[in-house]
Amino acid sequence: MFKRYKMLIVDDHDIDREILREIFENDFDILEAADGKEGIDLIKQYEKEINIVLLDIHMPVASGIDVLEFRRTDPVFNNIPVVVITINDDTKSQMETFRLGATDFITKPFVEEIIRYRINNVLSTHQIEKVVREREKLRVKTTLDLMTGIYNKVTIEHMISNLLEINEVLCAMLIIDIDDFKQVNDIHGHLVGDRIICTVADHISNYFRKTDIVGRIGGDEFLVFMRNLPSKDFARQKAGDLADMFKYSPEITAPANVSISIGMAIADPCPCSYETLFKQADKALYHAKRGGKAQYAEYGVEKTHNRLDKNKILASLLLSTSRTVRSLIKKVNEDTQLLTIFSPGEAQYFKKEFTGKIRFFYIDISSGPDNGDALLEQALAIDWLQETLFIAICQEGNMGQYAAAIKQGAVDIFPAPIDISFAKRRIKELY
Ligand code: GH3
Ligand code: MG
Repeated sequence: MFKRYKMLIVDDHDIDREILREIFENDFDILEAADGKEGIDLIKQYEKEINIVLLDIHMPVASGIDVLEFRRTDPVFNNIPVVVITINDDTKSQMETFRLGATDFITKPFVEEIIRYRINNVLSTHQIEKVVREREKLRVKTTLDLMTGIYNKVTIEHMISNLLEINEVLCAMLIIDIDDFKQVNDIHGHLVGDRIICTVADHISNYFRKTDIVGRIGGDEFLVFMRNLPSKDFARQKAGDLADMFKYSPEITAPANVSISIGMAIADPCPCSYETLFKQADKALYHAKRGGKAQYAEYGVEKTHNRLDKNKILASLLLSTSRTVRSLIKKVNEDTQLLTIFSPGEAQYFKKEFTGKIRFFYIDISSGPDNGDALLEQALAIDWLQETLFIAICQEGNMGQYAAAIKQGAVDIFPAPIDISFAKRRIKELY
């Protein structure tokens, strides 16, 4: 969590303010206001120092809506993220507050883990947006690499250093270098070489999540910073798949048909310095090159990863007793085989054939009467699925289930009834 940050809580309920204060007082300096007017007064006084505002909607004197209206007229306040406090099913207010520019919302009754998680996300996202805004204001032209349109070396260094200063959860740095690129220039000429550098830049930027950072740091060299990783294996999978993508689809970079090598360093423990992480990733890149190129290597891990098993990830596994959930998840996973089980015990039937080949393990706790803790525990104890990313399917709005899933390490939560396009989008982002 973020030390030394200032949080303003605007809520007319003493008890709610007290609960929020208790949750956040170790990490933030807290200011409190008991209605919207008091809130606006405090904002005017402290807006240069406040990092985040938690704002109730229904309040006397001036409401949360009034505060949001005021925010639109105040450029400094406008840059402070506002998280609205609503009751669970008040979707009308939630929509209205988003329309007025609220960054996110949290719902009552409060669930500590979820609130912390959301505030953490809001601040992380805000931090990167702030860095981007600052740089854009300062020197728009010098931010980007002119040839490829992605960040240049100075910018990406600055952004990553900033992010590493705050408490990034689990993150990884990847240095990517095109293999044998001198030959490309020799054979096809510099203009073709330039075009291929742009193609590789495009592919890399589209491949990673929007919140990751991608830049060009040298001739045929790129840097990626993967943020908020669900697990180390997720980073390994991404790096391996990226190297494979160029290796097995050389036509992407026609006519040169180049491959890439990747050096990866996982920041563990975080925080660590940019320089340290960069040196580690660079060492790993050296090993990937020495190991035969077209592969990734991880700092601190001897073995390079020249993966021949392109079909390693074949299937997803779903634990559910619900026919509806089964048919919806099948639609979400059209491109992979879906194995289904009714109870954790049945997973053993797939062990021999599918160990190491499961992409996602969906655990449906939505049809249970409780928060799903017991089922999650049983499912997560299955020995051959220990390294597999799991997604929890929870009853929509059931905070107990959401909290249990997050506590057990779910990489995502799909509320049931499942919205197929939402779920597909999330899967794509995760993958
Ligand atoms: P390796 O597999 O070891 O990476 O071999 P390599 O030939 O790719 O060697 P290295 O990465 O050390 O050199 C990168 C080469 O990329 C040097 C230069 O010829 C070429 N290069 C650098 N910048 C540009 C550029 O902007 N445009 C073009 N066309 N070529 C560039
Ligand atoms: Mg190279």
